Amino acid sequence: MFSGRLKTLKAYVPGEQPQDRRYIKLNTNESPYPPSPLVGTALREFEYKRLRLYPDPRAKRLREKVAQVCGVETDQVFVANGSDEALSFCFYAFFDAARGKVLFPEFTYSFYPVYCNFYDLPYEKVSLGEGYVVEVEPFLRTDSCGIIFANPNAPTGISLPLERMESLLCRYPQENAVIVDEAYVDFGAESALGLLNAHRNLVVIRTFSKSMSLAGLRLGFVIAHSSLIEALFTVKDSFNSYPVDTLTQMIGEIALSDESYYRAMREKIVLTRERFSQRLQEMGWLVLPSKANFVFATKKGIAGLHVYQTLREKGILVRHFDMKGIEDFVRITIGTDEDMETLLDAIKSSL
Ligand SMILES: *Cc1c(COP(=O)(O)O)cnc(C)c1O
Repeated sequence: MFSGRLKTLKAYVPGEQPQDRRYIKLNTNESPYPPSPLVGTALREFEYKRLRLYPDPRAKRLREKVAQVCGVETDQVFVANGSDEALSFCFYAFFDAARGKVLFPEFTYSFYPVYCNFYDLPYEKVSLGEGYVVEVEPFLRTDSCGIIFANPNAPTGISLPLERMESLLCRYPQENAVIVDEAYVDFGAESALGLLNAHRNLVVIRTFSKSMSLAGLRLGFVIAHSSLIEALFTVKDSFNSYPVDTLTQMIGEIALSDESYYRAMREKIVLTRERFSQRLQEMGWLVLPSKANFVFATKKGIAGLHVYQTLREKGILVRHFDMKGIEDFVRITIGTDEDMETLLDAIKSSL
């Protein structure tokens, strides 16, 4: 009944979405605020008869809007059913075991090794420097077929400055792809987009799930040189011609047109993050410097799992990674000011 391939699959474990009671959900980096009200209006006014037809397989209007917002050409944009799908297509299209290993940081988005296993790509985790910082030097190897890292990195929240990304791209072989996963870039890190013209092997990936409050929609995109984008279309059309449905294409376009709403929302989240980090530090916690909508924090003498379990019992979900080297940390999504107040009270009373 089952294929040999299936037996070797190691699936990603997403953060829990429990249905048993109401939690303050600070475990999967969703936004605590709703999407733009323009999205609500568009959904209410949507002409349902349009669903009779298949969506535009190349999502032209949405890609034009993404291109306009990001300051690139439409043929440099690819859209996918969440950036996870975009990542999957990129691994398939750009990494090749015959050319060497895929390199990524020791602690990063745990879907990367899952895709490597799925596509049978050898990989190596590259150690982080002091303070969990991504360093450039250890990535400059000749036995690799490509690099992927998140900027800011997850789950640390630490960002890599633009000049270090540029230094990496200038010194790394141009025939190998460098993928920068910018899922959290809107919360204060520097984007690699400006390096695209000089580096044709650069691939930038973004999502609507975090800073656009649309995790339930499933929409992500890739920006790269047009020849790389065409390769992604070939992968998509070998798998599913319509991964981004009609409604999603429309909502994505509308959300991108409400820049002022989203700017205000991001500013609010960043302010809450800074205040919360400060308070947690005052309570004796170590908080890594975050440019994302979450913080990675630990308190000496308390195991991360204990923090996770204690808070869960009090109705607050955070994320714990059972991984050697970061097992004492928890990753806490930035919610509303009120959410963070409740969390601080729970920590004060129980930890
Ligand atoms: C959340 C996240 C993604 C996935 O985003 P989706 O668009 O929801 O699939 C990708 N990369 C990183 C680093 C993330 O944290």
